[in-house]
Amino acid sequence: MSPETLITCWTLGLLSAVAAIAFRSELRRRRVDREVSEDRIFRCVNCNLVYTDDAGVDRSRCPACGRTNVPFEF
Ligand SMILES: [Zn+2]
Repeated sequence: MSPETLITCWTLGLLSAVAAIAFRSELRRRRVDREVSEDRIFRCVNCNLVYTDDAGVDRSRCPACGRTNVPFEF
């Protein structure tokens, strides 16, 4: 294997590693954005605490007093 081929292979490998890292962090960023935007806001009817939970849940437990609440509508 000539030095030129070795350098080319090394550069290509480095580039694909950087691309893979960038791709993964992009995916993670999008997932975080989606989770934040789809969070539901709850307000506890017992202690009036306002908190968020996953969008998929219909009822959520209050983290402070444990009472089950329905999503808070604005
Ligand atoms: Zn509560």
